[in-house]
Amino acid sequence: MNQYDYIIVGSGIAGLYTALLAKKQGSVLIITKGSIDDCNTKYAQGGIAAAVSKNDSAELHFQDTIAAGDGLCHEEAVRILVNEAPDRVTDLVNFGVPFDTVNGEVALTIEAAHSVPRILHAGGDATGEHIEVTLSKQVRSSKIQVLEDCLATEILIEKGTVKGIKALDCRTGSIEEFECRFLILATGGAGQLFKFNTNSDIATGDGIALAFNAGTEIVDMEFFQFHPTALRLPGVTPFLISEAVRGEGGILRNVDGHRFMPDYTPEGDLAPRDVVARSTVYEMKKTGSDRVFIDVTHLPPYVTTTRFPHIYRFCLDHGLDITKGVIPVAPAAHYMMGGIKVNTWGETNIAGLFATGETACTGVHGANRLASNSMLEVLVFSKRIMEKTRKGATTSQGIEVHHLLSQRQPPKVMPKPNLSALQQLHWDEVGIIRNKKGLTKAADILATWQRSLPQPTDRPSYELNNLVLTGRLVTEAALLREESRGAHFRSDFSQSSPQWQCHIAFTQ
Ligand SMILES: Cc1cc2nc3c(=O)[nH]c(=O)nc-3n(C[C@H](O)[C@H](O)[C@H](O)COP(=O)(O)OP(=O)(O)OC[C@H]3O[C@@H](n4cnc5c(N)ncnc54)[C@H](O)[C@@H]3O)c2cc1C
Repeated sequence: MNQYDYIIVGSGIAGLYTALLAKKQGSVLIITKGSIDDCNTKYAQGGIAAAVSKNDSAELHFQDTIAAGDGLCHEEAVRILVNEAPDRVTDLVNFGVPFDTVNGEVALTIEAAHSVPRILHAGGDATGEHIEVTLSKQVRSSKIQVLEDCLATEILIEKGTVKGIKALDCRTGSIEEFECRFLILATGGAGQLFKFNTNSDIATGDGIALAFNAGTEIVDMEFFQFHPTALRLPGVTPFLISEAVRGEGGILRNVDGHRFMPDYTPEGDLAPRDVVARSTVYEMKKTGSDRVFIDVTHLPPYVTTTRFPHIYRFCLDHGLDITKGVIPVAPAAHYMMGGIKVNTWGETNIAGLFATGETACTGVHGANRLASNSMLEVLVFSKRIMEKTRKGATTSQGIEVHHLLSQRQPPKVMPKPNLSALQQLHWDEVGIIRNKKGLTKAADILATWQRSLPQPTDRPSYELNNLVLTGRLVTEAALLREESRGAHFRSDFSQSSPQWQCHIAFTQ
């Protein structure tokens, strides 16, 4: 059996950046279930937040992050995030990521709930693609071994310590085992839970399922961020229309052309994502439409085409010239705030097992992520995993266990378990506006599906199993949290409550 110092599962920004740091400390294997660049990272548009301008400070960035997190951020982790941000962005520059500049200075934009412009971007609105291409090139030209089409299926543990990983070779169907000293899960999010989502097909909650089945704690799963503005055109995937479009002056209008956001909040079009997403849902209901619109026709056309070349081109390819006409949009599932519970060194409660990126929950996002803080979180905490493993990993002891998944009765009407039924169920019952009746229905169906699914044998069947388990964790947490906070909104408990200023964690 092959043995490595580090095995990293996933090849988005978290997997690639961690691997490039790890290669200085030992042998590295990356396993990834598709090709190296199948990931959410390459779709990131807006950029990376860091307090690098003269008008900004780590303290301001801290305050904005805490405010967005709505009472549930891990303050120590946020301090680390904002303080280490400028150095980690410099790491990316040193790896060759071509951030945009103006007159020799780094170009910065503003996004919702940031008090000053602090978002670095590359290729206008193609930041993620530039990061993914740059880092994967570096990995390809290094000694790092990469196994593509290789799906991690089980974490191997011996005497409470990680021993390695079991994986399915998706091309041959054979199962292989790989041993390591440190296993780092960088498997991304779970946007594929929902019918409308901005995520890549790979976002099926695999890391959550792997870690939960191995005995780690999964925390804050009820907090799923819905982006208010994904393109809504029949037959077209909900392509993201970045918040930076509103940052540069884009205006949300309803189907009658009315600018509606000031009717809901004084922050208007740049209110936090959850507020804009809910206001948009109310506005769509009010006007009987399945969409609203972003208007950038008042901006000089060159601003739109140079600042958002990717969005401009995508819309043009689908028959929309956004310099002349409005863009139809609606909310879509976007980002998983919760995940595998890790401490500020990326450690789980199992010795040798680490998690980073969207699959991990460091606590920096609390109940609601501040835009462009997620790729930053990857950089800051992946670097800390390397520091920790250089010194020899320990296990973070003393993590409390809060909840077990509840036993449930099968519902009277039982849809067949498949991806589209699962996505419809989550969109209808576990989406932007939730209540006890819908969540209970979803929880009953998901629990029954989990009992009935056959043993997985190939990538789609593993992914469906993982989505069902991840969906159960999201739904049960949403049912338990009888209040509204951040991205979690219950129409039957529409206020936040001090008694819920705590985290919901699940374990086996
Ligand atoms: C459209 C869009 C726009 C965004 N814009 C921004 C932005 O402007 N700024 C920002 O900070 N964030 C943004 N985000 C969020 C951010 O892009 C992601 O949170 C971040 O890229 C996640 O990186 P990651 O490496 O954790 O996961 P990913 O990039 O999703 O990579 C996960 C990797 O794990 C692999 N994998 C998964 N399961 C398995 C398995 N079982 N076995 C083997 N491999 C597996 C996948 O194939 C993939 O390679 C955006 C997200 C989207 C979808």
